[in-house]
Amino acid sequence: MKVVFFDLTNEEKVYFETNLSKDFVGYFSSESFDSNYILPAEIEEAEAISVFVSGKIDAQFLKKFSNLKYIFARSVGFDHIDIDYCNSKGIKVYTAKHYGDNTIAEYTFAILLSAIRNIPSAITDVKAGKVKQSKYRGLELFGKTLGIIGLGAIGKQVAKIAEAFSMNVICYDVKTNSKYQFVSLDELFEKSDIITLHVPYSLQTENIINASAFSKMKKGVVIVNTARGELVDVVALIENLNNGKVSYVASDVLECENIVHGNYKKDFCLSCVDEHCLQKFFLNNKLMNTSNVLVTPHIAYNTYEAVKRISEITLKNIENAKDGIFKNVVN
Ligand code: NAD
Repeated sequence: MKVVFFDLTNEEKVYFETNLSKDFVGYFSSESFDSNYILPAEIEEAEAISVFVSGKIDAQFLKKFSNLKYIFARSVGFDHIDIDYCNSKGIKVYTAKHYGDNTIAEYTFAILLSAIRNIPSAITDVKAGKVKQSKYRGLELFGKTLGIIGLGAIGKQVAKIAEAFSMNVICYDVKTNSKYQFVSLDELFEKSDIITLHVPYSLQTENIINASAFSKMKKGVVIVNTARGELVDVVALIENLNNGKVSYVASDVLECENIVHGNYKKDFCLSCVDEHCLQKFFLNNKLMNTSNVLVTPHIAYNTYEAVKRISEITLKNIENAKDGIFKNVVN
């Protein structure tokens, strides 16, 4: 089976070159791609591709592969992959499920605490010799109610850590099979001091945090997002930061974040970016320049341990595919 790896870091490249068994022919590329990507002839007939979260795996891109049977996502999220197209062509999509349940949960608290204790501005000020104690007065976690939207693999780890901080945990999920207290989404909005998002991005969860949601929340609510930017209506978020409803935002993700990260494949130019993302680009910049907002560039996953686990799980997925085992397949 020929497997084409895109978007590889040097470490990943070495790992897959070394460990991919002789049953597979690997094509290892550090390149990212978009639907305009011109496929080298030698990979057109590959049966499998492995991708990270930074490329959009749409039908236009997938159609370039005449013989594709498997996609090995080196991520948990698969909202960047056109699953309907894959279903129509019988392409199986594997993810690196569970590579970073604790990793993302730890990071959720890292950005939450950084935001509510004003750590970034304190660091900037101490370096500039302009410290003003009253500016850094923040909030505590102890005794607060944490509303977790999506009590899946990551959400459960978040709940565990929250308990260690003596927080009250309430959850909203379509599945309610866990020891935690489940409430309706409206009740979660009404009761939470802090709301953290851990659902996948889908048509059902798009803008789950919108103007109507904010209207039900407590004054001073804190919003944490380590899942996907599309879960939050950024216009409503900015408005509710400005009117004081939201006290802090800590977000590792933004809608159309590739442009903000400077990872857009072509040189940045107005005509290269679709109108929707261009609009989000300006809104994201507005958000990042609003006070009490902490944004990081989709790095919740990024520990040595988790990146190693992504490679190990992906390799196992590739071997499983050869053996007809569908563990970690999402479709
Ligand atoms: P998971 O599938 O284990 O958990 C998701 C939970 O959401 C499930 O319990 C599911 O029932 C629930 N859910 C799905 N749709 C819902 C809906 N419409 N309403 C209510 N609940 C719903 O996934 P996970 O491993 O916990 O990952 C969650 C998300 O975290 C991923 O989809 C991904 O977007 C994000 N993520 C981000 C990073 C990062 O680096 N920032 C890394 C890994 C994962």
